Amino acid sequence: MESSHEVPFMDGLTMKEIAPASAPDANVYTKFMRDHCCYDAIPTSSKLVVFDTTLQVKKAFFALVANGVRAAPLWDNKLQCFVGMLTITDFINILHRYWQSPLVEIYYNCREELLKYSNHTLISITPDSSLFDAIYSLLKYKIHRLPVIDPESGNVLHILTHKRILKFLHIFGTMIPKPRYLQKRIEEVDIGTFKQIATVRETDTVYDALAIFVQRRVSALPVVNEEGKIKALYSRFDVINLAAQKNYNNLNMTMQEAISSRACCVDGVLKCYPHETLETIIDRIAKAEVHRLVLVDKDDVVGGIVSLSDLLQALVLTPAEISRRAQTLTTEDKLGH
Ligand code: AMP
Repeated sequence: MESSHEVPFMDGLTMKEIAPASAPDANVYTKFMRDHCCYDAIPTSSKLVVFDTTLQVKKAFFALVANGVRAAPLWDNKLQCFVGMLTITDFINILHRYWQSPLVEIYYNCREELLKYSNHTLISITPDSSLFDAIYSLLKYKIHRLPVIDPESGNVLHILTHKRILKFLHIFGTMIPKPRYLQKRIEEVDIGTFKQIATVRETDTVYDALAIFVQRRVSALPVVNEEGKIKALYSRFDVINLAAQKNYNNLNMTMQEAISSRACCVDGVLKCYPHETLETIIDRIAKAEVHRLVLVDKDDVVGGIVSLSDLLQALVLTPAEISRRAQTLTTEDKLGH
């Protein structure tokens, strides 16, 4: 794995530039993540499903559904090592590509497709690496599943996610002092995406949604009506229901139909409002164990997305940024701007 100290990061920042923060307490989460290793965040017991690379990709997606897991490491028997991850993103890419072709192609081209679409090099981490390095990898490579591999046995111990790491912070971070910026409103600290939000209309098809997932690489799409008001959320995870319900040859289904045919009912959309504090938002996202909240105004019109990627980036990798923004605002308040 690359050394995090030398690698240029998002927006041209390097790790050295990221490190110093302007407020004394701004770095607490960075320090917390540097002081804990991946092993600390691994649950005592969890389910792990491994697929052999020779498994037909279609069967592999059914196996993901049947086992209730979202991703599986791929084992190459010839090389005697893990060579990649099979995730819902692969499923989306394959469905999107083969939609125009007969379904049978999915049966016969599966192994080649798997190699074409999966990451050629497996991005993984060792159990004794810091959680800071895990977050760095998740964000740098824009992945959502990071296998923790024991260097001695070569075994996958767990698959780390943003959710697991935030949960760890939420539970054990209560023992560390809270940075002041947690009391700032989300609109002040500007954590999230608030422009060019990728959305789908209720009348758009599942294929339209897949095309956006492929082009924009976002993990969920707010489903909106003609007035831009939020009606539901269609996430990458929902796409796997197509395999569960054997509906993958009906991508002309509207969003409305796809949402109402969801196997498990999702109660509403988890939202947040611009005036809510960062602390309230972190609390809500961690307790609900979701990957993002949809930011809406008082009329339920979609204004942004606050995802775990945004929160981990801001709290752990670039705390100096939030601190600086919060500080600037406080000064402006004092000056009566
Ligand atoms: P995620 O894939 O959810 O971890 O998010 C990665 C980045 O994309 C974050 O900066 C999110 O705020 C942003 N994002 C997530 N969903 C959307 C969306 N529907 N439209 C625009 N940006 C999004």
